[in-house]
Amino acid sequence: MARPIVKNRTILETILTIENLNKKYGKVHAVKNVSFEIKKGNVYGILGPNGSGKSTTLGIILNVVNKTSGEYRWFDGKTDTHQALKKVGAIIERPNFYPYMTAEENLKLVCDIKGIHYDKVEEKLQVVGLLERKDSQFRTFSLGMKQRLAIASALLNDPEILILDEPTNGLDPQGIRQIRDIIKHIASLGTTILLASHLLDEVEKVCSHVVVLRKGEILYSGSVHEIMANEGFFELQSDNNAELKTLLQNHDAVDSIEEEDGKIYVYLKSPFASEDLNRYLFQKGIILQHLVKRKHSLEEQFLQLTNHQ
Ligand code: ADP
Ligand code: MG
Repeated sequence: MARPIVKNRTILETILTIENLNKKYGKVHAVKNVSFEIKKGNVYGILGPNGSGKSTTLGIILNVVNKTSGEYRWFDGKTDTHQALKKVGAIIERPNFYPYMTAEENLKLVCDIKGIHYDKVEEKLQVVGLLERKDSQFRTFSLGMKQRLAIASALLNDPEILILDEPTNGLDPQGIRQIRDIIKHIASLGTTILLASHLLDEVEKVCSHVVVLRKGEILYSGSVHEIMANEGFFELQSDNNAELKTLLQNHDAVDSIEEEDGKIYVYLKSPFASEDLNRYLFQKGIILQHLVKRKHSLEEQFLQLTNHQ
């Protein structure tokens, strides 16, 4: 059942390369010079508010939306899109199956169409936690179960990459949780994943890499870990804020300082432990009344990114 391991490379294989992609719908420039690369085994999130060009980008690489300019290459770049898409599993619309057929019957039908062995049906129903419900008619499923069946269907041909557009939209908290757990499970089995979402916590919880889009433009692209791994900032108060600012302005670890409502915010560019800062200031004759070290969450950083442009 497992596919043979063909190559064992130390460098991650490229699944998809996107270069300077543009899409214009008349006057609307929906995707602007977007470039990024998808490597095997990672989980990528395209994160951005509604209308930022996520679905358009997915539509282009899946060959259902025509690009205006730019390039995208699947795998080694030698495979044509039609062939390449046979190794891609994608759900970009609301799942739709035959309502009066069971989960199993619906998936067997997909197997017939795509020339896939029926063995895969139970295997994939298991992956999405629907094996016990295989004999239930599709129409009896909750939205979350319908979405899970769609994921099972997209996995039938053991794709190299699974692409999902807003996979948890419209689901209740339990359904959201189940879908996220399933995505993480599929990733742990080695399938590369690309998902579009307007939900920060979704990307933070599920993805290893993120492309932040706003109005069709990339604001950030890189690992989720790195966007989180900033040095943070101090929130300080003393009886001599003016002197405090002067002292810290010249410190090597300090990037910038802001003052608001009597509090001094000290943004760091390199590590600076609270106890070291406290000792340093004490030795210079400054007694702190207030000292808190904070770090921006992905959400705050995302809001900063999107506000500052
Ligand atoms: P997202 O998926 O991030 O919400 P979309 O890719 O759907 O964003 O849309 C990006 C922009 O392109 C929006 O301004 C949207 O109104 C516009 N757009 C999307 N599809 C079409 C279309 N078929 N015709 C005209 N404009 C479109
Ligand atoms: Mg969309």
